[in-house]
Amino acid sequence: MIPGISGRECWTRRAVFSSSDLSRAKGQGIPGDTRSTGPVGGRGRVSSLFDAAAQSLFATLLPSDCRLCQAPLTRISRLPVCDHCLSRMEPIRGLVCAVCGERIFTPHAEVQPLCGECRMTAPQFVRAIAYGSYDGGLRELIHLLKYGRVRPAAGVLGRMLAEVIQGFGSELLSGIVVPVPLHSSKLRQRGFNQAEEIARAALKNLNRGGLKLATGILDRKRATESQTGLSDHQRQQNVRGAFVVAAPGEIAGKNKDVLLVDDVFTTGATVGECARVLRRAGADRVFVATVARVLKAEAAWAAPEEIEEPRTLKAYA
Ligand SMILES: [Zn+2]
Ligand SMILES: [Zn+2]
Repeated sequence: MIPGISGRECWTRRAVFSSSDLSRAKGQGIPGDTRSTGPVGGRGRVSSLFDAAAQSLFATLLPSDCRLCQAPLTRISRLPVCDHCLSRMEPIRGLVCAVCGERIFTPHAEVQPLCGECRMTAPQFVRAIAYGSYDGGLRELIHLLKYGRVRPAAGVLGRMLAEVIQGFGSELLSGIVVPVPLHSSKLRQRGFNQAEEIARAALKNLNRGGLKLATGILDRKRATESQTGLSDHQRQQNVRGAFVVAAPGEIAGKNKDVLLVDDVFTTGATVGECARVLRRAGADRVFVATVARVLKAEAAWAAPEEIEEPRTLKAYA
């Protein structure tokens, strides 16, 4: 830190320096992203020499650690997370339910594998897809956005969500993208809705003109209690009636396909309730895209869907 500059000022200056480096920040994201991040040719060499000098100067002047693994960061970025941590956030592999995305350990012989729950009762949504398992670095990155309020994290999470949306293929080419809303008290407290930030970033990375972000469609009229320790049925009761369609004219007879976006899919109670009220308002098909999903193997220690600020908030401050 520069002597005489407080931590906050130091961070602000760092962000300002970094804003000219957005293309690099963009290119450092999710695994497999091999896009070129720098210019080529003579002018490019001078500029990269300058970049390298600037990077090491700023790294010396403004030392900072990765907020996930605490390793020193060696280059300027608006997102204080190292490449190693980002590269470990991998997509879900293995067999999952074709409808809700839950992990399947004992598949039945069928083309479309279904989990036990979807086999018993069809959810209100057509299909839910998540990018990664809600654990490890991905969970921490989501917490960094939500509780640490590190807004640039939405860019990386948005690129993951863009991959999820691509996964719907030709099934979902047009419609409205509706972020799961926060209750107004939570929105005031946090200052932004993480689902909306992620959805916005995802749409920037997609070439799907038919999909439009639509905020203000859903309203969360009651702050739901913590879901910790509740059974699946109790979770459904807990969110029942928590959402209303605030702009019914945007659904009935107009937008038949809706893509719900949230950061995490825990049990599906929240998105299931959102899908139910959207369908009541006239939506034909509701799809669900989330960055992360709680999978069976990890369910025992996963955070609840409506978790309050975690006790480890200090770690993100
Ligand atoms: Zn790291
Ligand atoms: Zn399922």
